[in-house]
Amino acid sequence: MREHALSDNRSYEILESLTTEVGARLAGSEADLRAVAWAEAKMRALGLDKVWKEPVQYPVWQRLSEQASVISPYPHRLQVTALGHSVSTPAGGVQADIVHVASLQDLKNTDAAKVRGKIVFIDHKLKKSTDYGEVAAGRSRGASEAARKGALALVIRSVGTDSHRLPHTGVMHYDEDAPRIAAAAISNPDADLLVRMLKRGEPVRLDLRIQTAMEGNFTSYNVIGELRGSEQPDDYVLIGGHLDSWDLGTGAVDDGAGCAITLGAAEFLRRHQLRPRRSIRVVLYANEEQGLIGGRAYHAAHRHEISRIQAASEADSGQGPVKTLRSDVVPAALVVVGQMQQVLTGLGVSAGGNQAHPGPDMGVLREAGAASFSLDMQADDYFDVHHTADDTFDKIEPVRIRQSCAAFAVFAWMAAQSPVDFGSGDELIQGRKNRTAG
Ligand SMILES: [Zn+2]
Repeated sequence: MREHALSDNRSYEILESLTTEVGARLAGSEADLRAVAWAEAKMRALGLDKVWKEPVQYPVWQRLSEQASVISPYPHRLQVTALGHSVSTPAGGVQADIVHVASLQDLKNTDAAKVRGKIVFIDHKLKKSTDYGEVAAGRSRGASEAARKGALALVIRSVGTDSHRLPHTGVMHYDEDAPRIAAAAISNPDADLLVRMLKRGEPVRLDLRIQTAMEGNFTSYNVIGELRGSEQPDDYVLIGGHLDSWDLGTGAVDDGAGCAITLGAAEFLRRHQLRPRRSIRVVLYANEEQGLIGGRAYHAAHRHEISRIQAASEADSGQGPVKTLRSDVVPAALVVVGQMQQVLTGLGVSAGGNQAHPGPDMGVLREAGAASFSLDMQADDYFDVHHTADDTFDKIEPVRIRQSCAAFAVFAWMAAQSPVDFGSGDELIQGRKNRTAG
């Protein structure tokens, strides 16, 4: 199965279909529902036994217009994008000097007197993918931190490892106790430009004009497809990705790839009449990007059956290849994890430890006590295009996505066939605590 899956092109074809027939699918946009319709139809066409959808609700955020330029000392037009959930700048925009900070931490340490009346510029460069969480904190929390000190707006260096002139968007959050100011990202080369100007010792003045809207409630859906198990159909292995994307690209690597890899894996098993003992369920989540909203809705709708989830693993870090398999299971199941790791060695996947996180949406289930796996993907180029206009289908390499699909097929199959349970609830949560303490 492993060798055969490696040369199977279905995941690539599914992704070609999604990025061509739907494309960008910002949560709450009309494309959101087109993506849902695509997913339902695709799951049926792929022959999954059972296909259904579950409602997910969220407010609608819209990007209307965005513009930034340097007024002085050297006029330049900048490539800018509003961060998701940002408010608009006041009518007429914001014209102010920038104050440079190296990071969110640096902003916290900066005197309010230096920030008041300015546009804060967080110049935190993402050098390697493993620093994403730390650097992205400036994107998500920077605006409220700056606003509490009297800033008029926030501009960040894009959270991306590329040097292309395309800004990276991404969601941000406002704290209740802070005024709401507009927040935007400029491209990496434009951030370099601001730094060079600042080095000359003169004030750098920007004109920032962001128009967005947040109004109304939207109902979308988690789309779910299942291969029914032959012996324990109500126990299931959970795989999937998130169906929504940002609006700038066509969501090929984030997270069309994850949807295609996991759907492709389930379809591969079906096509080869590999009927699992436990069910294999593929969930394509609504609105991950704006706060794991589909993931939370899935948890809310299935909280009484967490113990039915045998193993959860979401694919949301690009096209792969999968480099490491990690687990988060009870000790009695480690022997099965070892067998999985042995089979996956043939795909170049190495063994990780027993401390997995199953991905953003499924992280909610892990907290609730679901056994989890992580098929860690090569991510060195993931943040080059992540959340940009460059996240398009041409970036996908068949050989990479096929390997990921093969790895998910092997994992899902072996988890569904396992003679032992992977554990759940208190037993699993207590085991985690003990491991951490040990
Ligand atoms: Zn994603």
